[in-house]
Amino acid sequence: MSELILLRHREVAGLNQLKTYIADGGFETWKKVVTSRKPEEVLNDVKASGLRGRGGAGFPTGVKWSFLPNNIWPHYVVANSDESEPGTFKDRELLEFNPYLFIEGLMLTSFAVQANDAYIYFRGEFSQIAKKFDERLAELTAKGLLGDALFGTNYSLRIHTHLGAGAYICGEETALLESIEGRLGQPRLRPPFPAVAGLFDKPTVINNVETLANIPYIMEKGVDAFRKNGTEKSPGTKIFSLSGRVKKPGNYELPLGTTFRELIFKHGEGIINDAKVKAIMPAGASSTLIPATDAALDTPMDYESTTAIGSPLGSASVMVLDETVNISRVINNTVHFFSHESCGKCTPCREGNFWMSHISDRIESGKGKKDDIELLNSVATQMQNKCFCALGEFSTMAVVSGLQHFRADFEARLES
Ligand code: SF4
Repeated sequence: MSELILLRHREVAGLNQLKTYIADGGFETWKKVVTSRKPEEVLNDVKASGLRGRGGAGFPTGVKWSFLPNNIWPHYVVANSDESEPGTFKDRELLEFNPYLFIEGLMLTSFAVQANDAYIYFRGEFSQIAKKFDERLAELTAKGLLGDALFGTNYSLRIHTHLGAGAYICGEETALLESIEGRLGQPRLRPPFPAVAGLFDKPTVINNVETLANIPYIMEKGVDAFRKNGTEKSPGTKIFSLSGRVKKPGNYELPLGTTFRELIFKHGEGIINDAKVKAIMPAGASSTLIPATDAALDTPMDYESTTAIGSPLGSASVMVLDETVNISRVINNTVHFFSHESCGKCTPCREGNFWMSHISDRIESGKGKKDDIELLNSVATQMQNKCFCALGEFSTMAVVSGLQHFRADFEARLES
């Protein structure tokens, strides 16, 4: 592809300045939509585009919006800017360098579901970005692009920011809502789903930053233009955060369906010291470890194909491990991360991650016995399908697949 949509700021200098964004045609779509389109037309266009949530789940965005009941008001829209998956750094680039594209997407989404108040939830570590956003939103209000009776219509929109306290679990949408409401960030029991009883118990749409940043393009250029990239079931472009043992890590905006091989060897310029690639984690720490066979490398990175080889695409934070990496060490990192970030609400995740990190520490320190490998596997598999939310399930995926495919790496660490 030649045209950058989400990462357009790499082609237009200063796009994070309001005057540059406006000079580049920014907010024209917003004005046009508010003054000449019906909310249901926006919803139908986004539905027809096939845009799927870029935060991890890949759920069709327009379908998600359509779940909001029209007999319960007010409606809210919440932007999930709590990007904290290890290996994911795409939303941060958008928030810093192409923020107005995301804001315009949030505005259009709010209009589509007739929300008059929208919230942006920032991860605690993004405090500087959040501060800057407060200035940006004040400027937009002063310019009449946000506020009451927009462009002489009867539609009003206010956007509020909320800064988290640095908890990974608040990326889970119901924990995020709890946090905005001033409570401990822990997931809610579902149902009811946020579409029916979300923020302040009212119908709420929650979308990721990258998802929202796609909306202005769909509304400006149309459904067919959006569908020109990607596959039938996974249309559009996606930002892939590439990290690990590659020569050129970074964010790459590519059509969904691009192969792992193209991402790693063309855009990432291959493996450091031209070593052999050993495994891929397609969704950061929340991934299954996929052995890097030729078939795996030639797999298209879309929601269906990646799932078919054993791992969700998630937020497409592709971590690459080469032959110099011991997988036991990788697992030690992931279990410590999840042990630290487990919110403690349910026993399988809280206790399971505690014990997985202790067993993994024993193996890594050279004091592990052969039985510890089986014990680690046993704890992980017993946690599966018993955790309250996805974080607990994710924490087991790398452990189980790592032991399945790379057991020799663990055995090499055992007490001699
Ligand atoms: Fe909290 Fe983990 Fe249970 Fe999720 S699975 S509710 S993060 S303890």
